[in-house]
Amino acid sequence: MAAGRGTALIAGAFARPNQPMVLGRICADAGRRLLDAVLPPLCLGCNEIVATPGALCATCWPGFSFISAPHCACCGTPFAEDLGDDALCGTCLARPPRFRRARAVLVYDAQCRRVVLPFKHGDRTDLARACGKWMARAGAELLGEADLVAPVPLHWRRLFMRRYNQALLLARSVSRQAPAELAPDLLRRRRWTDSQAGLKAKERRSNVRQAFDIHPRWAGKLKGKAVLLVDDVLTTGATAEACARTLERGGARHVDVLTLARVVRPAL
Ligand SMILES: [Zn+2]
Repeated sequence: MAAGRGTALIAGAFARPNQPMVLGRICADAGRRLLDAVLPPLCLGCNEIVATPGALCATCWPGFSFISAPHCACCGTPFAEDLGDDALCGTCLARPPRFRRARAVLVYDAQCRRVVLPFKHGDRTDLARACGKWMARAGAELLGEADLVAPVPLHWRRLFMRRYNQALLLARSVSRQAPAELAPDLLRRRRWTDSQAGLKAKERRSNVRQAFDIHPRWAGKLKGKAVLLVDDVLTTGATAEACARTLERGGARHVDVLTLARVVRPAL
């Protein structure tokens, strides 16, 4: 079967006009098989060898809390029971967020941190490819409506210390799953903000107020665009809201938020 597929691909490469694309796929497939032979794919949770890159092993899989419906139509907080497609959680009813919708792949719990922390702080940038594919599936509706995919930016000092922006790696991987354009520098973090860890929701909003602006390169190009904002973890949503406010003031039609994980508190 594999040989048949390979023959068809090779035959197609010489029969159709899009030869570079087909040849590129053949080279990519061959490269991946070679890489898998030298460096077999590892489980994202425990580094055991698995059959497919970006997969979880049978032991780790049940430990991850994947978020699925029913959930709040706005912020994506999972509900214990189905209240209808348009149902909102108490938090969104009491104080609607500045973004239109937020979705996430995983509940940010101890098991999830085994993926997020090495990715964010441990140079495991290779995890972005698989995590981005998960995110594209969880946020398919949002991604399908997006014109631009943009990461939450890091301040240049934090970028210098960390050497990479994990949100940009995820945004790049997500954007590859859809026609939406990657806008890596759409937002800038114009002032240094202390870590949000340990702050309450109100303090977080105050901490990131006016922390972002639009890169001048995008001035005049944002009007009417649907933006999908990408980050690794949604905690209270304060950072996402500050970014959404900046993007809307810059002319964006609406802003959706897609994260790898989110903190889940009991729905009000
Ligand atoms: Zn909500």
